Amino acid sequence: MQGFQGRIREAEPTKSDLHNRRWIYVPYDRFTERTGPLTDQPAKDTGIVIVESTAKAHRRPYHKKKLVLLIANMRHFALEQAERGCSVLYHFSPKSHGQALVALQPERGLPELTMMRPAERELRLDMAQAVRDGLKLNEVPDTTWLSTVEDFTGVFGAYKAGKSYVMDRFYRHMREKTGILMQRSKKPVGGKFSFDTDNRSPFKNEVAVPIPPVYEPDAITREVIAYIDKEYAHHFGTTEGFNLPTTQKDCDAMWKFVGKKLLPMFGPFEDAMRDDQPHLFHSRMSALINLGRLLPADLLREVAAQADKGELPLASAEGFIRQILGWREFMRHIHEQTDGYRLLDIAQEKRRKPVHDKAYPAPSGKPDPYAGATPSALGAHLPLPAVYWGVKSGLRCMDTVVEQVVHEGWSHHITRLMVLSNLATLCGFSPRELTDWFWFAYVDAYDWVVETNVLGMATYADGGVTATKPYVSGAAYINRMSNYCRRCQYDPKKATGEGSCPFTALYWTFLERNEKVLGSNFRLQMPYVTLRKKSKDEMRALRERADEAIAHLRSFKLPEY
Ligand SMILES: Cc1cc2nc3c(=O)[nH]c(=O)nc-3n(C[C@H](O)[C@H](O)[C@H](O)COP(=O)(O)OP(=O)(O)OC[C@H]3O[C@@H](n4cnc5c(N)ncnc54)[C@H](O)[C@@H]3O)c2cc1C
Ligand code: SF4
Repeated sequence: MQGFQGRIREAEPTKSDLHNRRWIYVPYDRFTERTGPLTDQPAKDTGIVIVESTAKAHRRPYHKKKLVLLIANMRHFALEQAERGCSVLYHFSPKSHGQALVALQPERGLPELTMMRPAERELRLDMAQAVRDGLKLNEVPDTTWLSTVEDFTGVFGAYKAGKSYVMDRFYRHMREKTGILMQRSKKPVGGKFSFDTDNRSPFKNEVAVPIPPVYEPDAITREVIAYIDKEYAHHFGTTEGFNLPTTQKDCDAMWKFVGKKLLPMFGPFEDAMRDDQPHLFHSRMSALINLGRLLPADLLREVAAQADKGELPLASAEGFIRQILGWREFMRHIHEQTDGYRLLDIAQEKRRKPVHDKAYPAPSGKPDPYAGATPSALGAHLPLPAVYWGVKSGLRCMDTVVEQVVHEGWSHHITRLMVLSNLATLCGFSPRELTDWFWFAYVDAYDWVVETNVLGMATYADGGVTATKPYVSGAAYINRMSNYCRRCQYDPKKATGEGSCPFTALYWTFLERNEKVLGSNFRLQMPYVTLRKKSKDEMRALRERADEAIAHLRSFKLPEY
């Protein structure tokens, strides 16, 4: 059977294609023919260029499933466009995407390329450098977003370092602007904008969790899996059990399943964590949305229509809409406004491992624009320990979630926030190292969304630009919202002494350590009142337990990548 290269060669441009078609460069995070420049003209008048860059894939030890997902979608997208009648120039290169195009354009006689603005800052920088190096490129707006820069600045004004940005205000504006879940009277359906407080139940098998469909890898995807296993064997995670959509048809089928089967129960159990049901009612669509395979506008239109017809409980519909219309758009604006967290007025952490390399040239004489932003408002700086690489720590919550990430490259929001990031924040592990870990370990991670979520929401490294307080907790929260503690060697009800859960001692000593910065935070008044009532002996025991826990976590050897 013919492999991918043989099949895509049939769609290669002729001389006449190069002259007579409009040529579009499709970035790796914008695989869509449903909006943007691919909709401007018929397929017979369109040519597309796609670059499969090994420089990008080697840049970080990306999870093997992430590479499979991205490359398999890229190749299927190319074949789908060829089938529609587009001419396709699919180019393999050891260079970065931008540098590959600089060489390819004159070599193949390509005219000026049109490109929808990529979502990832790293790719935008790469393309800007390529333009400086002679690439003829016309950038057009990214029409996959639901909001504009003016929506953000209209709510908050021009970006100012040191200011806090509250997502709810932006979300209200977006609901009013789009009319989604709004009454004619301009009031929100159900009388309030957010049903977040209704959505905080643990899951106790109240209803059956629907079994997701299987997306059996086809020949094209199997070829990519074999390639990744061979060329990227040293990367994080595994390709084993790869089961994510790689064709547009399967992406659409996944959304159908999510809309019909998962969303009705999404709201109430949004924050629940289970070792036997790691997906619960989460859509797991983030990776496909971030690639452009599923468009936010389509999802919201359908969810709102389902809610209007009474097919979807309001709390579930609103919860899902808030994630997409609120959080997702808000995070993208925060990233752009702060130039990827480089425009904060916050103490910086020293970088340990810079990731930039020769394939990504910086403008000469200028500071390296690719060096990751390193805010650390709370002074966190300890190296990220081996437990994040799958070395067992004995903390059952951590070990369970990391095992899932190693296997799948995905875990749901609360596990990211209240287990993985919570532990890092409490211990003072480097926010940048945690960000870089999420970036390569998760199938849905790209700079605009991972830096905002980790440096902003999860660790408070940005000093409160994105979240009004650090999301931290002791064992009580994890015990209430999950079933992890049942079979843990530690006791979530004990804070000190033998067998006590480290989270609780870490929590109180975190608050004590950061009292100068956080003590006057209005959302932390209750815990600080409790902290101040603790006796000297109690605090001494908590400190000892916390120090012991950090030393234990740091005692394991880090695997090499
Ligand atoms: C520490 C941390 C790191 C994260 N890193 C990423 C990341 O790299 N990529 C990513 O897409 N999301 C990230 N998120 C946000 C969120 O956790 C994921 O979008 C979500 O878990 C993906 O699973 P899902 O598709 O089942 O989402 P669902 O729970 O079904 O939510 C629906 C959709 O809403 C969007 N969404 C929800 N919350 C957010 C958010 N905070 N920011 C942006 N989009 C959101 C996603 O597109 C998601 O698919 C992170 C959150 C935290 C706390
Ligand atoms: S007892 Fe503590 S370490 Fe163990 S699972 Fe619960 S929260 Fe995690």
